Amino acid sequence: MKTYNIAAIPGDGIGTEVIAAGLEILEGLARRLGGFNFDVTHYPWDSEYYLKHGHYIPDGGLAEISKADAIFFGAVGSLKVADHISLWGLRLPICQGFDQYANVRPARVLPGVKSPLSNGQAIDWVIVRENSEGEYSGSGGRVHQGLPIEVATEVSTFTRVGVERIHRFAFELARSRPAKHLTLVTKSNAQRHGMVLWDEVFAEVARDYPDVRTNRELVDAVTTTMVLKPEKLDVIVATNLHADILSDLAAALSGSLGIAPTANLNPDRSFPSMFEPIHGSAFDITGKGIANPIATFWTAAMMLEHLGERKAGEHLMRAIEEVTASGLHTPDLGGTATTRQVTDAVLEVISR
Ligand code: NAD
Ligand code: MN
Repeated sequence: MKTYNIAAIPGDGIGTEVIAAGLEILEGLARRLGGFNFDVTHYPWDSEYYLKHGHYIPDGGLAEISKADAIFFGAVGSLKVADHISLWGLRLPICQGFDQYANVRPARVLPGVKSPLSNGQAIDWVIVRENSEGEYSGSGGRVHQGLPIEVATEVSTFTRVGVERIHRFAFELARSRPAKHLTLVTKSNAQRHGMVLWDEVFAEVARDYPDVRTNRELVDAVTTTMVLKPEKLDVIVATNLHADILSDLAAALSGSLGIAPTANLNPDRSFPSMFEPIHGSAFDITGKGIANPIATFWTAAMMLEHLGERKAGEHLMRAIEEVTASGLHTPDLGGTATTRQVTDAVLEVISR
């Protein structure tokens, strides 16, 4: 029997609701399939904890979760704490501290889900987001704060090592898919330093992948391709900021932010990877019991695959699709089901 140590960080708002549901699903799968189980440790590092202690992650906290096999994360963000403090206090120290440089965001329209696009069935994308540097490097500063002459800089840092490894990751992923197509997204017409480095390194890495077809799009233009010609895209590689924006669009085009999963991967496995829904803490529906748990279930399936439990991941994915196909939807997908009802339905399919 294999035991996986999971560090659960539910965080704020609906994060706690969807992670509780996700853990029930993982336990249900372990019961049904056998051969593995989970040892889950909960970390209470939410915004209330921050307000009480002055920090999200306590001293030694990162070292402690570094021993986990995977991190299962809900969302962070509260009306009582500025968003840049919560993001930089919890999520980014984990992504950057554990060098989870590849953020993988699949998007497709699940059975029974309605895309706002008439040809939404053509959506079958994986967005690869550079997750360690770029626009979210954290460098910059403010001088003459509050004065009319105030200046603020937000510095994007791109390293050749960082750019090359994300391109290589994206090519490997594209190679593993039937379409074997990779789109490089930049803004190298206007941003003429880091983005040109992206273009150059992409061309160099492409030589090692003659079997992968490639094209390049500017980030503004690719939004129109996503909406008007979704079939033209397969794997997309983009910077931290660009891919952040494109993946929310991809989620909306696939039906709802409530179904979109993501994996923050440390591909060389020197640290644990982190799995989370793309969405945030959703203040407007917190505590109502109607958060869509599907994004969290899908990310749990990605976590299982990462842990080497491919069959369990596929079993879960099939169960998710059977439930979405049945029309049992939370309000974000136009239904009236609760988180509890969707969770129970998936548990029921799993247990068969
Ligand atoms: P959000 O994702 O929380 O919500 C956007 C909209 O989508 C809301 O109308 C919400 O109700 C809906 N939605 C999101 N997830 C849903 C789900 N599972 N089921 C049903 N509906 C869902 O984004 P926001 O409103 O921009 O941000 C709220 C807070 O979350 C902010 O503090 C923000 O910083 C934080 N945030 C955190 C993360 C993260 O932890 N990774 C990501 C995004 C936003
Ligand atoms: Mn985002």
